[in-house]
Amino acid sequence: MDIRDFTRSVEVIDAHVHVLTSAAQARELYDYYLMRGPFMSGPMNPAALGTLEQALDVQERTGVRHMHIVMWTWSGAYYRDGQYVLPDDPAGRASGDRELRARVARRIRDNNDWALRTVRENPGFSCFCGIDPVVMDEQAMLDEVERTMRGGARGVKTQFPDLRLLANDRRLWPLYDYLQSREIPIQMVTAEWAPGLNRPAHCGEALAAFPKLRMIFSHIGHGREFSKGTDAEFLELARRYTNVCGDLSLRLPEVAEGHIRPEDMVAHLRRIGTDRILYGSNFPLNEVLHPDKTPAGGEYQLTQTLKGLEALATLPLTEGERADIAGRNFRRWVGLAR
Ligand SMILES: [Zn+2]
Repeated sequence: MDIRDFTRSVEVIDAHVHVLTSAAQARELYDYYLMRGPFMSGPMNPAALGTLEQALDVQERTGVRHMHIVMWTWSGAYYRDGQYVLPDDPAGRASGDRELRARVARRIRDNNDWALRTVRENPGFSCFCGIDPVVMDEQAMLDEVERTMRGGARGVKTQFPDLRLLANDRRLWPLYDYLQSREIPIQMVTAEWAPGLNRPAHCGEALAAFPKLRMIFSHIGHGREFSKGTDAEFLELARRYTNVCGDLSLRLPEVAEGHIRPEDMVAHLRRIGTDRILYGSNFPLNEVLHPDKTPAGGEYQLTQTLKGLEALATLPLTEGERADIAGRNFRRWVGLAR
């Protein structure tokens, strides 16, 4: 199918993309954070870079009208690796650690600034900005939320697996309190591919304390087995708390590839509430994590993104439900005016 026939008939907003600040940063994500490339595993080059240039090209090729950048700095990896080179003497170690935290926090702020500048200059984009409760103290973390929201951010992005944090960590309570009182959304990554990772159940403790918190879950819980495990935990939270929603990134290609039956996906989405679901791709990570063939020079892979859009276009939903998931819910949840 020509996906542009679909996106001409229904407004599609991608609630979850990672636009990288440069090709060099995309390379860093691939080599350093994902540990792929010529000396590690996987193909020599990432299947897609996710630069602004490529993101604009994806909009052009697919007809997706708007992309929401979840600006994420892999600050947990920076901070852990930086600690390996701190000196032995206690005084030097303490001052080196302070300097390291400040440098990593500065990196996060610079990346946030890039995202804010990018969405100001490109009307087809909006963003959430990142924080890190490990390298930032409470005041610095709240200041960064305030600063970025004033600069045009629409919420907060977190990546607790990178920080080795769980959502029930009490260092996060002042953040949740601040966000709840100002109705600012926070994006939450949960996973179950390793035993110690942040799960929806951990977020449940935060929601019990802050029941009005606007929490957006990546990949509707990202269960290893569809509708079980963390998928079921997410469903439970969505049923209990009115301000919990989730994005479909990484899950729609599972339908397109036959791992989830379309009618089972629709039944699950209706259990969650189709007014709580946002379309998302996770570009370029969706492509990078599922490389097919090495793209020719200057090209990039778009297979997973197209599969996801095709699943969105063909799931046995009502047309009203489809339009909600495709874009209307995002406008409502993230406060994007027409
Ligand atoms: Zn992502």
